[in-house]
Amino acid sequence: MNQSNNKNLEFIKNSGVNYLLQESPRKWFESASKLPLESRINKNSDKSERINELVNKIKNFDTPLKKSANNLVVYDGNIDAKIMFIGEAPGKDEDIQGLPFVGKAGQLLNKMLTAINLKREQVYITNVVNWRPPDNRTPTDNEILQFLPFLQEQIDLVNPNYIFLLGGVACKAILSTPLSLGKLRGSWHEYHSLALNKKIYTIASYHPAFLLRSPQYKRASWEDLQMLQKKLNENN
Ligand code: URA
Repeated sequence: MNQSNNKNLEFIKNSGVNYLLQESPRKWFESASKLPLESRINKNSDKSERINELVNKIKNFDTPLKKSANNLVVYDGNIDAKIMFIGEAPGKDEDIQGLPFVGKAGQLLNKMLTAINLKREQVYITNVVNWRPPDNRTPTDNEILQFLPFLQEQIDLVNPNYIFLLGGVACKAILSTPLSLGKLRGSWHEYHSLALNKKIYTIASYHPAFLLRSPQYKRASWEDLQMLQKKLNENN
């Protein structure tokens, strides 16, 4: 574990967190590759440099996940986006291409974006964990905690106004709760960034891979997307 991760873990522990999960969303932050193609990066050089540094930092972070994975997968989309989508971890296709959400689940995510008039280039897409877990297993709580500081740094760097959480692992990481998506979805949550000193409107919704397996939840997912679209329209 690198020093900044240690510091972050220390910070989380000092602010009273001894375990990852509890019965309600916890506002921890209140109390206390492959590089994507050059063309995908906005010409805000300072920010581009910072994201490249962060990608390198994640690349150098020592984790057993590196041994079984092929490529680091950090982000795709726009580093100046006002909307951030967070998934779980790279799958097989993402591991091959070094980009998030490029397989079947990614194709569905693209359709979901199109449905609310958004393009991939207008949003920032990332995952909780940046290396593919062996056999696509769910990341452990320890892995989630280890990669959380990197995710927080991405949020601070991109500075989105909205976060759309795709699936339970993203909810666990960002809202720090084991509550089911059924309980979490349907209302706005807040993610507090200490560094930005701001609250970011956050939606918890289903993972596209889950929607592919259980299409009966697509209607609920559509409602969540519409919640986001409504908020975007109100604020434009
Ligand atoms: N599932 C995820 O959670 N992330 C990806 O990038 C691909 C599939």
